[in-house]
Amino acid sequence: MLSYIGQVKKLRRCCQLLVLEYKIKANKIKCQAIEEAIRTTQFIRNKCLRYWMDASKEDKINRFALNKYSTELRNEFNFVKQLNSMAVQASAERAWIAIQRFFDNCKFKKPGKKGFPRFQHDNRSVEYKTSGWKLHPTRKRITFTDKKGIGELKLLGKWDIHTFPIKSIKRVRIVRRADGFYCQFSVDFDNSKLLEPTGNQVGLDVGLEYFYSDSNGNHVDNPRFLRKAEIDIKRVQRRIYKHKKGSLRRRKSRKVYARKHLRVSRQRNEFVKTEALTLVQSNDLVAYEDLKVKNMVKNHSFAKSINDVAWSQFRQWLEYFADKHNRQAIAVKPHNTSQLCSNCGVKVKKELKDRIHRCSCGCVLQRDVNAAINILERARGGQPQSNAQGVATSTLLGASLVEQVATTN
Ligand SMILES: [Zn+2]
Repeated sequence: MLSYIGQVKKLRRCCQLLVLEYKIKANKIKCQAIEEAIRTTQFIRNKCLRYWMDASKEDKINRFALNKYSTELRNEFNFVKQLNSMAVQASAERAWIAIQRFFDNCKFKKPGKKGFPRFQHDNRSVEYKTSGWKLHPTRKRITFTDKKGIGELKLLGKWDIHTFPIKSIKRVRIVRRADGFYCQFSVDFDNSKLLEPTGNQVGLDVGLEYFYSDSNGNHVDNPRFLRKAEIDIKRVQRRIYKHKKGSLRRRKSRKVYARKHLRVSRQRNEFVKTEALTLVQSNDLVAYEDLKVKNMVKNHSFAKSINDVAWSQFRQWLEYFADKHNRQAIAVKPHNTSQLCSNCGVKVKKELKDRIHRCSCGCVLQRDVNAAINILERARGGQPQSNAQGVATSTLLGASLVEQVATTN
């Protein structure tokens, strides 16, 4: 039971963490140094795991014991010593997280496999804590100061790390992806910097014609660049299966596919994140329909399926930012929002093709705008389907790096 409480505490803390990510620009020698650091991390993790497996029950190996063992590794292996001492600790902690998860699964009698920790062969990241790195005064470069020889790296990206004090950076992690290395900063989010109330409220209606329309009569266009890119992805995907399994060509097309896929999901994420943040910053309350993703995916139209992914991500970011900035994000029942008149409340039947709402009371509105007003009214009426400030979403997006390592493994 004690350990269960500990888990909840950890979860709460995670919600306070924000992860900022930059692409890294580095030459070949620096890339090799990063690879070497990533390999060392894996070595330490696996060594710790082996140490735990070989120990007897009486040894009672815990987190501290693994930490101590990692110091021994430092003395024994020069390449471990070259890695920053706190980064070595972080690697040992990875082993402990895997072990602990296994223990918890057994303890709480999780059905199915308990996930006995396994040796890792495809580690993609190295994690530093509060030492072993230094940010350049402009915050556009980072220097890794341990003896792995990574040195100074240029950071490319939009999120401004300079808005956060250095002290709030709890972890720095280098991650390998299909298109190169990335640097992630895990930042303690300062809740005292809450946004001032704006006095604005907004309702959103998602449709096919626009990405969304709001209750003020604005429309935001669908990101067409995504649709184009997705068609491209399908083409590349087909190419993979043309080649024999295990062939060089197949491996090559796989790589191309992974890169393209990554690029699109990143573009889409960037688009919805920006939209969501803007909305949360300029409104005290954001209302939207509680659409069930399952129902949405049933529709086989390609265009729609793309929108669905974007929309559900958009919603997650809305809820995430609302939670961070203490704004309200409210999901309402989607029933009849497009049929009812937002002016007099009478039902005005429409087909999907009718783009204008025209009521006998004299109200004429673009169809989605009418729906958006209804959605906002429903949220104001205090009958939200679900108050969208779930811990689940926040943890999903703001999970600590250690946790992320655990989930990607
Ligand atoms: Zn009316």
